[in-house]
Amino acid sequence: MSTRAPLRRALLAWYRGHRRDLPWRRSRDAYAIWISETMLQQTRVETVIPYYERFLTRFPDVRALAGADLDDVLGEWAGLGYYGRARNLHRAARVVADECGGALPDTADGLRALPGVGRYTAGAVASIAFDRPEPVVDGNVARVFARLFGIREDVRSAAVTARLWEEAEALARGADPGDLNQALMELGATLCTQRAPRCEACPVAARCDARARGDAETLPIKSRAAEPRSVEAVAAFLVRRGRALAVRRPAEGLLGGLWDLPGGELAPRERPAAGLRRALSERLGLAVAGARRLGSVDHVFSHRRLRLYVFRAEAPAGRVRRRGFDAHRWLPPAELPALPQSALMKKALDVVGAPVAANVRSRSRSARA
Ligand code: SF4
Repeated sequence: MSTRAPLRRALLAWYRGHRRDLPWRRSRDAYAIWISETMLQQTRVETVIPYYERFLTRFPDVRALAGADLDDVLGEWAGLGYYGRARNLHRAARVVADECGGALPDTADGLRALPGVGRYTAGAVASIAFDRPEPVVDGNVARVFARLFGIREDVRSAAVTARLWEEAEALARGADPGDLNQALMELGATLCTQRAPRCEACPVAARCDARARGDAETLPIKSRAAEPRSVEAVAAFLVRRGRALAVRRPAEGLLGGLWDLPGGELAPRERPAAGLRRALSERLGLAVAGARRLGSVDHVFSHRRLRLYVFRAEAPAGRVRRRGFDAHRWLPPAELPALPQSALMKKALDVVGAPVAANVRSRSRSARA
């Protein structure tokens, strides 16, 4: 009998009695599980639930997603962040529809061959949907293992990462690997939390090294992540004959495929008004004068802390050149909030205020209808 057998039994028994009733746990459909696992990366369960339900209603299966416009997919994703996930889902759905007969591969290796599917997602889908004994390690599982097995080294190091996957592999071997993996994730999310773990309610407390030593809250040990870089940028609510200009970012890169107000990053020590004139000249080929500053918004990305200065300006006559974006539209201002857009663009539109603000909520809803 494996030395992990008692641990497996304790985790499975606890999970079956305590698991939260989450929408994706009511399904064994591999597509639904794939969508949920992708949305849950870097994102809290409560945030994901409404997005998951809307997404599954709009794109109920692989073929529906494969046949959709990327704009519509990004529109459903808007506000969830990390938009590369949505672009990859769309790309992978097309591969599954075109090359796999519309059925997701049923092995971790097959899943990993799809765009955007890494080891974690492949292991989660293979184990939960197809009962494959494949491991998963996410932040929750890493924290549980560091405490349970007393791993007092940097969990981001290559050696510890390899050890975590080995431990997960050993545990996943056996009956019900999907439940076992979900038990580990659930334990990390509900009891073995970053602060104040509830060891008294934990099904593996008797075997836990950190519990025995009393140092659970100091684990896991993580090397310091690099501080986000501070960046300043400008954007313009640029109006011509009552219509405002929106530009679409190229599919690859930060916020790819989403719509934006035109603008760009400031050079070091560049003044916002001068930077706006330069950015609009370089990127649109328009010489914009007399821009009025409306305000600014702050936004934090994973590696950047951004301050965006928002201006209003009249666009001069002339053709718009496209540099650094792949499409543009002149729209009635009230239609801007309906475009697939990032949380940053929403904040910028809030600063613009009157021409669009009254319509932000209703248009956002109608865009999702
Ligand atoms: Fe985490 Fe406490 Fe359980 Fe150990 S006993 S795994 S520290 S909740």
